[in-house]
Amino acid sequence: MKIGFIGLGQMGIAMATNLIDAGHDVTVWNRSAAKADPLLARGATLAATPADAAQGEVVMTMLADDAALETVVYGERGIRGCPALHVSHSTISVALAERLTADQGNDGGFVSAPVFGRPPAAAAGALFIVAAGADDRIDRCEKLFAAIGQRVFRVGDTPSAANLVKLSGNFMIMAAIESMAEAMTLAEKGGVDRAMLLEVLTGTLFGAPVYKTYGEILVEDRFTPAGFAAPLGLKDMNLVDAAAGTLRTPMPVLGVVRDHLRTAIAQDGPDVDWAAIGLVARRGAGL
Ligand code: NAP
Repeated sequence: MKIGFIGLGQMGIAMATNLIDAGHDVTVWNRSAAKADPLLARGATLAATPADAAQGEVVMTMLADDAALETVVYGERGIRGCPALHVSHSTISVALAERLTADQGNDGGFVSAPVFGRPPAAAAGALFIVAAGADDRIDRCEKLFAAIGQRVFRVGDTPSAANLVKLSGNFMIMAAIESMAEAMTLAEKGGVDRAMLLEVLTGTLFGAPVYKTYGEILVEDRFTPAGFAAPLGLKDMNLVDAAAGTLRTPMPVLGVVRDHLRTAIAQDGPDVDWAAIGLVARRGAGL
């Protein structure tokens, strides 16, 4: 398919690479154009503006946050009004997804398709894609999704539902990291090895990928280089809070993990992984 890909950060570069390798005709755009070089070497075309990347059948976006996506859509030479179907993979607010849905007009339409999975999963083409929008539009993306992901979950025809699912999931990841970090800190202070605790827990009741992936990161204190940077995690917790406010849903645990993220960023800088909230639990206990 002739497609565009906008946003070549840690996730986007891996996703675009897989799309090229699957044989698609990919035109790329990134704010910092040099990041496209490895893709050009693989046969991609460089677009001069976001709009130039949105002239094919589909344009996929994978950008940092709401502000970045708003610039790419509504800014100068943005993709608004272009013929391509816009498939948004970024973790953005429910409100922006609603705005993008409402603004569909004589363009190619809008599908929201945020993803679960860190950069290694993106590189392996093993993301989980949560897609919402008109069925026929999601059908048109099937081959593209197959190139970047291992499974697609369709969660309805209201695009913002996918963003609510994604934000709920990220909140649960943060809560899982927090609870594991607290348990590991408790165990270590009592003389129990963290790695041993993790082996027992993931081998019994907590065998889920989230505990295995983040448990290893916590045991190894592997917070740099960041696979998912703490400021992006804080952005997501703020988006969860915005949705919770709109939907009048109390989320007391959210307040704890969001504050711990703020502490981690203040103490360790913006370049650490969001799992660095584990350090906050350790330091709080004097370790
Ligand atoms: P990243 O490496 O920081 O990349 C961010 C991308 O956004 C870059 O292409 C960057 O361009 C672009 N960007 C930022 N501000 C911009 C602006 N004002 N105008 C235009 N472009 C702008 O982030 P990432 O880890 O790939 O994450 C991308 C999205 O996926 C985020 O929404 C994140 O929450 C979500 N996500 C991440 C993970 C993960 O584990 N990393 C997993 C699932 C979902 P430059 O190259 O010019 O800076």
